[in-house]
This record gives sequence, structure tokens and C-alpha cells, in this order.
Amino acid sequence: MNLTSPAIDIPILMVDDRPENLLSLEELLSNHGYELVRASSGNEALLLTLKQDFSLVLLDVQMPGMDGFETAELMRANPKTKHIPIIFVTAGMKDIKFQFKGYDAGAVDYLAKPIEPLILQSKVKIFAELYRQRREIELHKHHLEELVELRTTELSRSADELKTSNEQLLDRNRELQAIEGLLRRQVIESAETHDQLLATEEMLRVQIEEYQAAQKLLNESNTSLQTLFDVSPLAIVVSSFPAGIIREINRTFTADFGYPVDHVIGKTGVQLGLWSNFDERKRFLGLMHEQQDISGFDTEIKTFHGENRSVLLYSTLMDFRNEPCMLIVFLDVTEQKRMENQIRQTQKMDVIGQLAGGVAHDFNNMLTAILGSAELMIRHVQHDSAAMKLLGSIQKAASRSAELTGQLLAFSRKGHNNAVHVRVDTTIHEAISLLERTIDKKITLKTKLIAKNYRVTGDPALLQNALLNLGLNARDAMPEGGVITFSTINVELDSKYCESSPFSITPGQFIEISVADTGTGMTKEILQHVFEPFFTTKEVGKGTGLGLAAVYGTITDHHGCISVTSEPGVGTIFKLYLPLSIGHKNDTASSEELTRGSGGILLVDDEEILRTIGEALLEDLGYRVYLAEDGEHALEVYAREKENISLVILDMVMPRMSGKETLIRLIESSPDIRILISSGFHQEGTADELERLGAKGFLRKPYLRQELYKAVSDAIGDMK
Ligand code: ADP
Ligand code: MG
Repeated sequence: MNLTSPAIDIPILMVDDRPENLLSLEELLSNHGYELVRASSGNEALLLTLKQDFSLVLLDVQMPGMDGFETAELMRANPKTKHIPIIFVTAGMKDIKFQFKGYDAGAVDYLAKPIEPLILQSKVKIFAELYRQRREIELHKHHLEELVELRTTELSRSADELKTSNEQLLDRNRELQAIEGLLRRQVIESAETHDQLLATEEMLRVQIEEYQAAQKLLNESNTSLQTLFDVSPLAIVVSSFPAGIIREINRTFTADFGYPVDHVIGKTGVQLGLWSNFDERKRFLGLMHEQQDISGFDTEIKTFHGENRSVLLYSTLMDFRNEPCMLIVFLDVTEQKRMENQIRQTQKMDVIGQLAGGVAHDFNNMLTAILGSAELMIRHVQHDSAAMKLLGSIQKAASRSAELTGQLLAFSRKGHNNAVHVRVDTTIHEAISLLERTIDKKITLKTKLIAKNYRVTGDPALLQNALLNLGLNARDAMPEGGVITFSTINVELDSKYCESSPFSITPGQFIEISVADTGTGMTKEILQHVFEPFFTTKEVGKGTGLGLAAVYGTITDHHGCISVTSEPGVGTIFKLYLPLSIGHKNDTASSEELTRGSGGILLVDDEEILRTIGEALLEDLGYRVYLAEDGEHALEVYAREKENISLVILDMVMPRMSGKETLIRLIESSPDIRILISSGFHQEGTADELERLGAKGFLRKPYLRQELYKAVSDAIGDMK
């Protein structure tokens, strides 16, 4: 520590009644770092010393009132101030007596005025140093005391802590002793129950084993349930009840209806758009509420890709992951329904076909008579132009009627099927060249005949007629013009296709003939009825509704099938499938020149009018004609005129003995006999059967002269 340390103030009290003295003292002592305090009387000095500690008092002796000596004595008398050094400053009392009095009063020194500055300064310096040292010692002491006190507090605290831990230790010890006692008791007790414990443990072990076995079984059955759920061929959904939030679906559900699992879980059927009809869902949930169980709920749902599917729903309530749920099984019956629909359609067509066939048969007989009579009459009225004109009208009307009846018969498949080999591409070209004459220039006809094999067995006239019908319909559907395309390709229809088809077709090679147009197309409703006879959307007089019915009949009669696709505003495609011929017969017979025939013909028919016409036509062709009105009569005539008869024309449908029976009997009596079957009506398969029995051919009613001539000359032709 050094003297100038600012840490310690060094206060000096100057006491004098004269301010000028104080000022001169102050001047001498300033600039030494002292704190100089003034007092102008002994009283003031006493007061100040009581308030503050001073290093030194410079005390004037002679002062009015209390003088310096008295002041010093009083300071010495007070323990608080008695240690403060006093230096008397005096002017007059240099006398030693006074000096002693001063020392008695407690002064430590004397300074006589005039004051020698150096002496004053050095004396003051000594006391200042003393004071500083004393203060330092005091501070140090104080610091030490503080330290001691601190240590003492710490010590006492540690002592307290020690005491506490000691008490705690004691407590713990007591506790331990208690526990030890307890343990001892327990050890004794457990020794007693040891056997008991062993028994319990064994029991537990058995129970755990049983539980594990049960758990294993449960796991196994859970796995097999999960497997069942997944491999089930039926789509299954588990959804909460009644909210309908889907919790689980099986793989089949995804496979059948396309919904990915992630997309479905946590959603309702409504959110997925699963229900085609929202009311159906309400009805379903209502039933679940009522009966908790539904079997065979017939409805429609939408697949992920927006397709409608017919399904039967089977549903029951169950607990699934602690939640009431519905287990819903979906049975997809779309295909079944479609088949049922088709079969119903086919059956309907069959019934209508039979009806139409029956009517057409009678019509045909009448028309044969009308046409025949008209042809014969021409010769008689050749010179009467008015009568000729009327006859022409009769012929025209009857021909038109015959055409219609022909279509009806084609539809009912009761018509006559001239089974020869037909080149489909030739038939198509012929049909197109006929169409070109009736079709507007706005319509383009195109062909794409790709099929390499195009021979089918059948009636070329009927097939051509079918193609014409399709072409004319296409024309009618394109009043503003467009394109009609005829195309062919070879296809193979396998057994799977044939079995699922409502048509009776056998697997094998087919030719597919399609007729496509870019016309108006058809709505679903129209499509459902197109093949029905008399179904037409055309104005009265423009459509008969028989065209497609005839096409349908012709194609089914040829053991083929037909399909149609159409889109309103886009167009329509009809596809015909005909089985290809195996082997090779003659192609379409070429029309021969009419030459006159010769020889005798037996004409058997129960209708008198047909016998008359037939006789006239045949005679006109050069034949000699024998007539019979029924089977028995025919047998009789044939037996008698056998030598003169080279051909029998036999009607199939006759009262009493049928045409077939007559045929059998005739062949029995003379195996070489030539018989031509004539009918407007025969059951399917009959033609083949009669051919097998020995018939030489068929003559379809109503027949024209040329047709009659051709059939007859074909049947007896190889005789010549
Ligand atoms: P018609 O031609 O006498 O009306 P069809 O049996 O030939 O009788 O046809 C029946 C109905 O089918 C037609 O009236 C028409 O509505 C519809 N149809 C047939 N072919 C087509 C086609 N190519 N485009 C549009 N509609 C057609
Ligand atoms: Mg038509």
C-alpha cells in the first residue's frame, strides 16, 4: 500500500475564529491530497469531531467563547474523540507554561505563528501518515473480522449439516433395522409358502402353455380367414355400420371393379361413386337396419373406370376391430344378365319368326296363284292393251308382295335355302353394283375385302338380299351423304365364343362381313328392336321394318351370327359371320337360256289353284303334266304312269299323307324316281333330311316361270 492510495481519505480539521487564518492554513495544505474541513469555533469543532473521524485537528488557542485548551480537554474527555491528535496553533503564548498547559490538555504538538510552511507540512504529513496507517490497520482488521465471521458461519453451517446427516443416518439405520426385521419375517413366511408357490408356478406354466396353443390356433385361423378373404372369387368389402366407411376390401374386389386399395380404405361408397343410383344405397342401409342381414340385393354399381355392373349383394352385420361393420359380398351378374337378355331376345325372335312364317306360307300360296294366273293370262289378252296394263299392275303388286313375303320367310327361316357354294366377294360386288343404281352421288361406296377364304355354303340370292338390305339402311341413315364400307376378314370363332353366343354356331373358320356407315347411328332403345319384323323408324310407305328381320333370318339360317354396334351421330357397323365351306361344290349356277323341255311331270299339290297354275306353266314350257291332289292320289297316278313320268313335283304341306311320307313311299316303290320338293315353308333341317331321303332339289314358292324351268331342268337335266 502506498501513501497516495486514493482508497483512504485523510481529513484534517482546521479550527480558528478568524477566517483569514483558516484561509492561509488551507493555502499551505492544499494540493497534498487532504480533505480540509473548517470550524470557526470550539463548539463547531466538537460537533464536527463527533460526526467524523479526523487525522488531525489544527486548533487555534485563542478564540472567543470556548478557547483551544477547553476544546481540547473536551475532546480528550470523550472516548470517541480522545485519540485524535491536536496541534495547537498559537501566536502569542510562546511561554513554556502555556505549552505545558497545551500538552496537558492533550495536544501532541505546537505550532507558533507565523507558521513556517515546511514545518507545518512535515508535521501534518507525519500525522496524516499515522492516520493512514491506523485506517489501514483498521480496514485490515475489519477485513479479517469479516473473514473470521464468514468462516465461522460456514463452520457452523457445516456443523449443522453434519448434525442433520447424522440424524438422517440414524433414521436410515432405524429404517434398515425395521426392513431387516420385516425381511426376516418374510423369509420365514416365504419359506412356508415356497411349496405353495411351486404349485402355483406349475399351474401358471400349464395355463401359459394352453394359452399359447390357443393363440397359435387363433393365429392359424386368422391367417386362413385372411387367405379365404383374399382368395375368395367373390368381391368382399367390410365397411362400418351404419356410416358405411370402408375398412377392408379383398383382392377380388380390386380385380373385379378396379378400385385400388389405397384409394378405397377410409372412404364411403358415396365418396367413391360406387353406387350407380344413390337411392339404392338408402334402400340397402334401410334393409340392413331392419333385418341385419340381406341376401341377393339386386343393384348396379360403378367400377373405378365408370362402367356399370349388375351385382347381387349379400350382407351381414359383424364386429370388426371392435367396431360394428357390414360384411358385403358382391356377386357380379352383369354377364349373366346380358346373356339372359340375349336369350330372351332370341326367343322373342323365334316366336315372332314362327308367327311370321305361318302367315307368309299362306300368303305365298296365294301369290303363286296370282302370279301364275297373271302370266298365263297375258297370252289371252295380248291384243287388249287396257287389260295388259291391268295385268301388268297385278304382276307388279304381286311381285312386290312376293318380295315382302320372301323377306318374312327369310326372317322366319322357313324359306327355302338353295345350298350351293357362294363366293362372298362376288356376292358383295353384285350387291354393290345394284346399290350404285339407287344411291345418291353424295354417298361413296368402298370395299376392303381382305378375307382370303370367302366361300360359304348357302343361298346366293338370300345373301345378296341381306347385303342389299344393309346397304339400303346405310343409305337411308345418310341423307346428307357419307361413306358405306363393305369389308371382309377371316376370323376363327372358338368354342368359348360360340358357347357364350346366343346364336347356334359351331366353332371354326368364319368370314366376317361388315357393312359400316357414317350415318345417324342408333340409340340404345332402337338397337334393342332393330331385328324385329315390322320395327321401323321410317315414315309410312318408306319402311317395312322387314329388312333387318330378313337379314337376321338369313344369317341364322346359314348357321352364322350377326352383331351391330352403333353410336348416335357417328355411324353404325353391322357384322355378319358366316361359316366357311369345307370342300368344294359348284359355284352359283349360271342362268341358262330358256329352252323348251320335254317329258312327263307329275305335279302334286292340295291347292287346286296351284295345280292349275303349275300345270299351265309346265305345259307352256313343253312338258306333259299329270296332276294329283294328295299323297295317295300321287302314288296311284305314279304307279299307273310310271313309264311316262320323269319327275314328280311334290308339295310338302298336305293334309292326310304329308309330302315327306309320300316321298318315302314313292322312293320305296321305285328307287330311281326323281322328286322335286316344292314349298314356301319347311322346318329347319328338313331340306337336308329330304335330300338324304332322295329328293333331287327344292322349288321355292311362289315361283316364277323361269325359276320353275330352272329347278325342273336341273332335276332332270342329267338324264339327257
Ligand atoms: P326399315 O328399313 O324398313 O325401317 P329395317 O329392319 O331394315 O326396316 O330397319 C329397322 C330400323 O333400324 C330402321 O327403321 C332404322 O331405324 C334402323 N336402322 C337399320 N339400319 C340402320 C343404319 N345403318 N343406321 C341407322 N339406323 C338403322
Ligand atoms: Mg331397311
